[in-house]
Amino acid sequence: MKIQQENILRLRELLAQPGQRVVILSHTNPDGDAVGSSLAWAELLRTMGHRVTCIVPNKYPYFLDWMPGIDQVVVFKTDAEGRAAAAIAEADLIFCLDFNAVTRLENLTETLESNTRARRILIDHHLSPDPHFDLSFSFPESSSTCFLVYSIIEALCGVDVITQRMAECLYVGMMTDTGNFAFSFLTPELFRAVAVLIEKGLQIPDIHNSVYNAYTEGRARLFGYAINRKMELIEDGTVAYMSLLESEMRRFQFQQGDSEGFVNYALTIKKVKMSAMFLAHRKFIRVSLRSRGDVDVNLFARRYFNGGGHKNAAGGKSFVSMRETIDHYIRSVREFAEEGHLG
Ligand code: 5GP
Ligand code: MN
Repeated sequence: MKIQQENILRLRELLAQPGQRVVILSHTNPDGDAVGSSLAWAELLRTMGHRVTCIVPNKYPYFLDWMPGIDQVVVFKTDAEGRAAAAIAEADLIFCLDFNAVTRLENLTETLESNTRARRILIDHHLSPDPHFDLSFSFPESSSTCFLVYSIIEALCGVDVITQRMAECLYVGMMTDTGNFAFSFLTPELFRAVAVLIEKGLQIPDIHNSVYNAYTEGRARLFGYAINRKMELIEDGTVAYMSLLESEMRRFQFQQGDSEGFVNYALTIKKVKMSAMFLAHRKFIRVSLRSRGDVDVNLFARRYFNGGGHKNAAGGKSFVSMRETIDHYIRSVREFAEEGHLG
């Protein structure tokens, strides 16, 4: 991954004057990569003397509660004092991390648009980034935004500035976005970066335990229920889907983040090339898509669910009932297969 020197120089200029008011934003339903990259970047900017506020549209999953500095992240949805709106209104610089378009901020989008003065900088690894940024670090070939942040730090000021806290935050995103170093874009540079993080004091087994072995009993039982009772296979067993209604989620004391990983599980079946998860929310159904190899769920999400993401992991939304959403999925998969997209 080659970061253009010219962009590093522009970033250095933007950060040259200390004491600037900086906002770091990440996407709705923030995951380990969103939170990890935001916290590490915030910590670096604070050591440079800037005043930094990290904001996420809604709550992050409880298994990230332990992350260093997460208690200072402002959750817009429950921010009664208006700290997020005030920080955005006063910001000199706004960094957008781990998402490609401001519409992914959902309820925060309008608040962001109110500040037309701040310079906006994108740091992201999703396909098709929005072109309306003052400076853009868009690297779809980076396995995570955390690895991209690491690479920017390396080019901007060298890795000496990385603390153990930053190393832990960066590793969370590298680990979760690669499915524990099992998906694509696993480059030698990524593993060299991990080696440096270990030199900073990172304890991989501790991080693994804190993230992957920290669920509730309800989540474990919901997982069993979802796989046993709700997973369906179509297209001769090559395409899977699963759905959860709000009543089913309540039965297992569902908390934000509890369904993480469910959609991937169908891909452990040898024949399955594509998998979908439909999760009911109050106003819409959240669609998660995963695939293997050449099957492009970014294309599928864009075409049929008004969403996007990466080739093998994408998402979108549906505003009709669960039954209609599933019927639409089955029809769309058929069309996709007839066009040869399922191989
Ligand atoms: P997840 O299934 O984990 O929520 O999302 C998988 C990937 O798809 C993530 O990279 C995420 O950013 C992207 N994604 C999820 N939902 C949407 C959406 O509604 N619109 C777009 N453009 N991308 C999405
Ligand atoms: Mn990411």
